[in-house]
Amino acid sequence: MTAPRHIAIVGAGIAAVTCARTLVQAGHRVTVFEKSHTVGGRMATRNSAFGTFDTGAQYFTVRDPRFVQALQTTPTVCKRWSANTVQVLDEHGRVAAAGLPPREPHWVASPGMSALVRRWAQPLAAAQSMEMQTHVTAIERDSLNKTQWQLRTTGTGDSTHVYGGFDAVVLAVPVAQARALLEHTPKAADLLKKTASVTVSPCWTLMLAFPQAMQPGMSALGPQWNAARSTHHRIAWLTRESSKPGRGAVERWTVQASAAWSQEHLHDDPQRVQAKLTKAFAEVTGIRAEPAHADTKRWLYAKTDTPLGKSHLWDRKAGLGLCGDWCLGHRVEDAFVSGLELALAIA
Ligand SMILES: Cc1cc2nc3c(=O)[nH]c(=O)nc-3n(C[C@H](O)[C@H](O)[C@H](O)COP(=O)(O)OP(=O)(O)OC[C@H]3O[C@@H](n4cnc5c(N)ncnc54)[C@H](O)[C@@H]3O)c2cc1C
Repeated sequence: MTAPRHIAIVGAGIAAVTCARTLVQAGHRVTVFEKSHTVGGRMATRNSAFGTFDTGAQYFTVRDPRFVQALQTTPTVCKRWSANTVQVLDEHGRVAAAGLPPREPHWVASPGMSALVRRWAQPLAAAQSMEMQTHVTAIERDSLNKTQWQLRTTGTGDSTHVYGGFDAVVLAVPVAQARALLEHTPKAADLLKKTASVTVSPCWTLMLAFPQAMQPGMSALGPQWNAARSTHHRIAWLTRESSKPGRGAVERWTVQASAAWSQEHLHDDPQRVQAKLTKAFAEVTGIRAEPAHADTKRWLYAKTDTPLGKSHLWDRKAGLGLCGDWCLGHRVEDAFVSGLELALAIA
């Protein structure tokens, strides 16, 4: 083990929290900075009067034995989701192929996807190692010790603060946000150049609730399936949220627009996006009932198209590291492996 160091970690998604936990286990001190008021990043859960929606990651798969081991540390949080079959639909919403049985188990955190990272972050929060609602706006050489780093941040009500004394800084954020910070960071030109080939698509997400399906005699609206990939030009994926374990019973759907449609409508008014996606949802599922609740969420950086091709970037001399799903792919497990391997490289 190297001498204990104080490491700043920007972001509190699964890559960041995995990295932070591993560094703490190796005897280092960490401070995690997260701009949002919650942890989890794109493993996100939104509440509504009718129950929760997983607005980002829908489920995850587990292939790496180190992910298996990490999940076993919190065995009650994740549950198998028997989506039964994931249907593949043609552009008119017809089942194009017989339902595909999942090739591997689908897992969800319960009561919502954000619960896993929240649980893993608990010891960090208890040790007062997390600065929430703290947006890192610049990474600079520490004004008191030029061998170290300091971070400029903005918090609630536009308050600003400088945190110093870091031996290293880890960026565990989407690649576009990492690039924006690195552009003005001393000694970061090489790292910045290495991220140049990575590309990421946005995703508009629609949430719908149909409490009328709870009325006597009605079990569920529309199709019998709970999850589907779709080739409709507007819609790529649909999930019946209420089919996931530990969620409320009110019929709720989460719908993800295709990458191409999301890109084309990136700056549209959310109300307009909601109307267009709700229409497409009716075409795909045959559910024409009026939803009691509808909402949208725009993810600017949702899915990696071209990953970096290696698990992380670490410049030991500068004390700067990068991790996140975009290093390896577009899945929760990619983010986990990336955060873990960066921490092992640092430690
Ligand atoms: C719509 C959608 C559907 C998805 N579906 C699936 C799926 O079904 N299965 C699957 O495996 N994966 C899915 N994913 C991908 C999965 O969510 C990601 O791979 C994973 O959550 C990424 O984790 P991360 O830690 O790398 O980044 P993130 O979760 O994005 O975490 C980054 C964190 O950094 C914070 N941050 C950014 N900039 C700053 C700053 N300057 N200062 C402070 N904090 C900052 C952000 O607020 C965020 O909390 C989906 C993603 C989306 C968006």
